[in-house]
Amino acid sequence: MLPSLTITEAHEQLKKRSISAEELTKACIERIEKVDDRLNAVVHRNFERALEEAKEVDRKGEFDHPLTGIPYLAKDVYCESGVPTTACSNVLREKTYIPPFDSTTTRRLKAVGAISLGKTNTDEFTMGASTETSCYGPTRNPWDVSRVAGGSSGGSAAGVAADFGLFALGTDTGGSIRQPAGFCGCTGIRTTYGRTSRYGVMSMASSLDTIGPLAKNIEDIALILQAIAGKDERDGTTVDVPVPDYRAALTGDVKGLRVGLPKEYFIDGMDPDVEQSVRDAAKQFEELGATIVDISLPHTKYATATYYIICPSEVSSNMARYDGVRYGHGSTRPPPSGRTSSTQALEKPKNLLDYYESVRSEGFGPEVKRRIMIGTYALSAGYVDAYYRQAQRVRTLIRRDFEEAFEEVDVILSPVSPTPAFVVGAHTDDPIAMYLEDIFLSSQVLAGIPALSVPCGFARAKPSPEAPAGAKEDDILLPIGLQIMGKQWGEATILKAAHAYEQATEWRGKKPLLE
Ligand code: GLN
Repeated sequence: MLPSLTITEAHEQLKKRSISAEELTKACIERIEKVDDRLNAVVHRNFERALEEAKEVDRKGEFDHPLTGIPYLAKDVYCESGVPTTACSNVLREKTYIPPFDSTTTRRLKAVGAISLGKTNTDEFTMGASTETSCYGPTRNPWDVSRVAGGSSGGSAAGVAADFGLFALGTDTGGSIRQPAGFCGCTGIRTTYGRTSRYGVMSMASSLDTIGPLAKNIEDIALILQAIAGKDERDGTTVDVPVPDYRAALTGDVKGLRVGLPKEYFIDGMDPDVEQSVRDAAKQFEELGATIVDISLPHTKYATATYYIICPSEVSSNMARYDGVRYGHGSTRPPPSGRTSSTQALEKPKNLLDYYESVRSEGFGPEVKRRIMIGTYALSAGYVDAYYRQAQRVRTLIRRDFEEAFEEVDVILSPVSPTPAFVVGAHTDDPIAMYLEDIFLSSQVLAGIPALSVPCGFARAKPSPEAPAGAKEDDILLPIGLQIMGKQWGEATILKAAHAYEQATEWRGKKPLLE
């Protein structure tokens, strides 16, 4: 089946002309049309344009770049000129926002001939860990549709796992690439803050947001990263540090690599299969010639609390632009000037503030409102020292933990999540339980370091009410993700470690049964 090819495999065939970009794109479109009513991963389909682009690529007939003619999906926060982009929020969905410009990342991909198939589901403005806060409803996990695909890049992860495209773009503010990649059994990388451009990607928390790819294996991740990484004049937070040759780093040789195992990442209550898989992964590294070093990252226990002060604080500021005037048209009431005559019958807002209020109350969902409230509170006079500034101090301590650890080790291993994918609805009424899903994923974002997720095994799960009739415990297998963290700008080292591990184990290429 064409959509199940990796980028490298597809590239070889495109180059030999044994397949065309059009055939490959058509095959992905058919796959989405056949399977996505069960997953809800793709929220805006860009199929006509994708096919035109594919034909154009075939006409040119130059397949030197590994991404030329490769179809992919982008999370619904990446602006692409002429393509609906709504951050899965009613505030932008009501009168579908269509950006007049391209994000740097989709522009760079277009420049090398990659083909965008459309937009994937996400938690509203990427706030969540399950894709359940999306205004389009949750994305389902391809391994067990009663479970979440993770979040917030759940649509991208499910889309890669279900072979809707050969790769997908996600964003990771507090784990949103790594956790869904882990839940869906694919790979995904969060880059060093400043390595990839955020230009044209809707912001959640500007000092934490990063963008990155999800793919079927590490080699593909290396190829995509090569095409998108590097300084961007349009994003002042990108840094002009050299971008190494990521694929060349994948030597398979990890002899002498010092691999840290932090004791704080093995906690009470974690799923025993998850713990075992990560410990087995460490053993595997030892067999490959790496040295395992027990380490401590003592401020880990404060990471999630710190994240949930800093993130909402920045959210409260970033969401201000969705006021119905600058962005967002969620209100069914006309603006005070009476811009729309057809809706005059509705009660007119009394003044501009009243208009903003109606747009924002109707347009935003509960999680976005919760974060705006928490953030506004944490930044308000009288509380800013106790909350926001204190959180920034703890952030520094967390960063120092990593700086010290990376004097002793080259990479750090941990689970991505304490449990495999949970059942849809399990945390809906409990925001704190949802926040705790990020327990192993917040420290790296506060420190600004890179981290990736690579499959490291499967957990057995009890069949849920939606599982096929007669399913037994052993029938439900859920992917487990291994997190590999590196030092600032150290993407090449974590990719090399992950690639060596991936090649030595049997998890790569395992597919969910979706027929
Ligand atoms: N689950 C985290 C949150 O809700 C991460 C979100 C993200 O990385 N976009 O904030």
